[in-house]
Amino acid sequence: MSKAPKIENLILKNERIKKAYNLATRIHQGQKRKNGEPYFNHVLATAETVAEWELDETSIIAALLHDSVEDTNYSLEEIKKEFGEEVSFLVDGVTKLGKIKYRGIERQVENLLKMMLALSQDLRVIIIKLADRFHNMKTLSALPPQKQKRIALETSEIYASLAYRLGMQWISGELEDLAFPYIYPKEYRWLIDNIKEKYEERTSYTEKTKPIIEEKLENAKIEVLKIDSRAKRYSSLYKKLLRYDMDIEKIHDLIALRIIVKNIEDCYAVLGVIHNNWPPLPNRIKDYIALPKPNGYRGLHTTVFFIENKITEIQIKTQGMHEEAETGIAAHWAYELSKDTKKYMDKQPSFANKRELQWINQLKNWQNEFSNPEEFLESLKIDFFKDRIFVITPKGRVIDLPADSTPVDFAYQIHTDIGNSCSGAKVNGKIVSLNYVLNSGDLVEIHTQKNKKASESWLDFVKSTNARSNIRSSLKESGKKLISKEINGSEVKIIAEDNIGVLKEITKIFSRNRVNISSINTFTNAKFPVIKFKCDVTDRRKIEKLILKLKVIPSIKEINYHMF
Ligand code: MN
Repeated sequence: MSKAPKIENLILKNERIKKAYNLATRIHQGQKRKNGEPYFNHVLATAETVAEWELDETSIIAALLHDSVEDTNYSLEEIKKEFGEEVSFLVDGVTKLGKIKYRGIERQVENLLKMMLALSQDLRVIIIKLADRFHNMKTLSALPPQKQKRIALETSEIYASLAYRLGMQWISGELEDLAFPYIYPKEYRWLIDNIKEKYEERTSYTEKTKPIIEEKLENAKIEVLKIDSRAKRYSSLYKKLLRYDMDIEKIHDLIALRIIVKNIEDCYAVLGVIHNNWPPLPNRIKDYIALPKPNGYRGLHTTVFFIENKITEIQIKTQGMHEEAETGIAAHWAYELSKDTKKYMDKQPSFANKRELQWINQLKNWQNEFSNPEEFLESLKIDFFKDRIFVITPKGRVIDLPADSTPVDFAYQIHTDIGNSCSGAKVNGKIVSLNYVLNSGDLVEIHTQKNKKASESWLDFVKSTNARSNIRSSLKESGKKLISKEINGSEVKIIAEDNIGVLKEITKIFSRNRVNISSINTFTNAKFPVIKFKCDVTDRRKIEKLILKLKVIPSIKEINYHMF
């Protein structure tokens, strides 16, 4: 895919990579993969892929050492000592990600992806993990069938979609194709038997048509860098066939033509020439240059009645768009690194989520209009996942909680009854106290006792509003009087559609009601941005009046408050 140097060449030039290479050879000495190959081949293949994606030296070293903590006696401390903090941080991240298992609950995919982003903290961790999974999938046939299916499903549901969201289209498609025969063996056979001829026929057809397009574009004085054809992947072809009654004749992009030109103007010029010569199918023209896909994909697509009247999809892109579509975030990464090799620390998982990026941009725009920008900037801390943790139930459900949550918060999040009757907890198999502070990735088990009631002391440590309010109402029911506590202030939590200006409107209402905001925190839940305002109001009526006023703003989806 890329002309990046092979590891062997990098070793000649780079002492640190050479050192890691030699170390990896030594620590994996004698270890064998399930297919009988030396284990070292696996870490080498992973590092090769990372190098092909043009990631930095640190990532290549981390890739060479990515299985050392899990599978050898070499420790994280030793890595830190020999290669520094950054490498050990990446290896640690890859090791942690390896512990997350997809247990086949579809509605959990979204949360699992978030948890992985939260755990990795640095996108390079995810990219190394993708390279690791890529090689594991290529050698999957050596594993027992039960394992094959589980890993293939996990690859398709989690890793391929993670790659897709990062815009790494090529690896995403590769992973899907590698997983497909294991998940749908019968369907795969059917496809191979039925499609082979079609593919060959279409390939020779597009080969034949290339010179004709070239000539037309030449006449129009458009410089073409490359015309090639891209065969639709088996996995995505299968998904499409399901929607078209398995009728291959209805699939027009079995082989698509891809035209690469120098710049955006030329892209549109090519589209003009194509449409001028071959009539387009209505509703099939897609301008992903003006309106990129959510994962950042750009290009022009059209489907035309082509030579010999065959319906054919044509994609038009610049070289940059083409490369970006292949490697996505990694391409971006390589570019950023070449600008400034020290920049990686700023690279939070933020890149992963365009929606969140959009929200940030809106905040920035709005901030410019804010009367006192410095002050606002001070209080505005955007740290996407810093405020949230993601933990797992024994059945593999992912639960999203505020940072520093405890087993009691977890129990109430599952069900009010479980919260109320909660008597003990295990985290990662070990018994912990009910005020134990949970971390992302923890597997939490709750023990319950019949007729047990919520305890007032829980209010001292729970973090979620859900747990807090449920404990209170349970205490009220059992007739207990709450000892009134000193109140220091209030926190208003708002979930709003992320349209420009909503924050401004909100803060206006705060100031009109003479409520000083002491801090603002934002993050994004599954759908909408969540904003938390802290203020020093200790009078319940005052805060309730404010809430009523705020409720008038149409884009606010949800609003609640608590006093602390
Ligand atoms: Mn590995």
